[in-house]
Amino acid sequence: MKIVRTVAETKALCRQWRREGKRIGLVPTMGYLHDGHLSLVRASKERDDVTVVSIFVNPTQFGPNEDFQKYPRDLDKDAAYLRQAGVDALFHPGRDDVYPPGYRTYVEVEGLQDRLCGRSRPGHFRGVATVVLKLFDIVAPDRAYFGAKDAQQVLILRRMARDLDLDVEIVTCPLVREPDGLALSSRNAYLSPAERQAALALSTGLRWAEKAVAAGERDAGRLVAGVRAVLEREPLARIDYVEAVDPETLEPAAEVRGEVLLALAVFIGPTRLIDNVRLRV
Ligand code: AMP
Repeated sequence: MKIVRTVAETKALCRQWRREGKRIGLVPTMGYLHDGHLSLVRASKERDDVTVVSIFVNPTQFGPNEDFQKYPRDLDKDAAYLRQAGVDALFHPGRDDVYPPGYRTYVEVEGLQDRLCGRSRPGHFRGVATVVLKLFDIVAPDRAYFGAKDAQQVLILRRMARDLDLDVEIVTCPLVREPDGLALSSRNAYLSPAERQAALALSTGLRWAEKAVAAGERDAGRLVAGVRAVLEREPLARIDYVEAVDPETLEPAAEVRGEVLLALAVFIGPTRLIDNVRLRV
């Protein structure tokens, strides 16, 4: 596995691969890798000739009071993990290489970026869309892989790719959970044992909603209220939002018909976690 540190080197490497007729898969990450990330790598390895993983804790997607500084980082462990997984290149750029001094250009996906997580994290999706567009330009992948864990993120990136006529296929991979239901996340590393237990309220709430729908409930308001009730029973949990929305527009859904995205963000102690499920009837 090649470890590339600069934009210029990565462009040259990927250009060479394209000249050789190789199809490139890209898996963008912020590192501190877990099996959720690995599922994206595996999906790429099944389809693409070469797989590039980027690790970049992107400063522009963090708010001023968020965890950019303390976001967990362990490059050596991540590199070993990716080497073992058969990744061809790890792109780990420096901050100034991605955002040189005087940087001024950002991508906004209007409307979609302001809903759900965008409401409590203003500017977050502008940072995500910007860095992903830059990665698409640097690597020029045939396919790029994202997890359904970040449902709003992948929706926004799909819209960006469509609106800007980008020649990349966006592949969404299923959400990977721990055996007890907790969605895998690098931020789970922040949780104390008591918080780790409390964090089960997220998936428990979503599972309750799935069961309610299976039992015939169709009213989105009652489903959201039921999930909130599960979360409110957990003293360490503080709800940021629980919403049932149209999975394409993110507009609030009144009832479950076709497909509804039930998404939530919850603080467990100081740690903000997200989770979601698609309800289908
Ligand atoms: P991150 O490093 O958190 O920015 O995540 C990088 C990619 O991995 C994103 O596309 C995430 O949606 C995806 N990802 C993170 N956690 C999971 C998970 N539990 N299951 C599936 N994909 C995930």
